[in-house]
Amino acid sequence: MIYFHEQHLGNVYKGNDLITCSSCLVEKETFEFYINKKQCKVCTREKQKLNRDSNKDREYLRRKKWEEDNSDYVKIRASKYYSENKDIIKKNCLEYKSKNKDKYLAYNKNHQSMVRAGLRKLSFNERAKINLIYIEAQQVTIQTGIQYHVDHIIPISKGGEHVCYNLQVITATENLKKGSSLPMTNGEMS
Ligand SMILES: [Zn+2]
Repeated sequence: MIYFHEQHLGNVYKGNDLITCSSCLVEKETFEFYINKKQCKVCTREKQKLNRDSNKDREYLRRKKWEEDNSDYVKIRASKYYSENKDIIKKNCLEYKSKNKDKYLAYNKNHQSMVRAGLRKLSFNERAKINLIYIEAQQVTIQTGIQYHVDHIIPISKGGEHVCYNLQVITATENLKKGSSLPMTNGEMS
């Protein structure tokens, strides 16, 4: 049955020899390989998945950059989408809130501290720039294996603002030494 199925996909090897997968080194039937592949189907799929996962950050950065370059279009698109799907969005929001009470309360708390920090007054562009600083911190953390934080140069508690020129990327250790800064939050209020 499997043979029949594979044949119709055009993925079948001629002959009945076992093939050793170059990746997992297991001898497998020919139908377990895509045509002209030295790795078995399982390994091939695994490799493709890894590839996608490792490019996630790159894809995210590219999308953010594009959204920043086309911020007017993004704004219009978002408001158009909202007005067209208002009812569904509202319904999903309510459902999410009732299912995730803890998360929602935490979000509210975070949101209030952002309001105090003046974040709500920020323009879309400013917010996007702030977001990039948080992405930078994440990237440096991934690249170096050392935890980096975004730090408010003048702490919020001392009247500092949540704006680009008051933010710096420093190691978590330095940040904790400094004390009295906001916990990790980003410009998206998420
Ligand atoms: Zn394999």
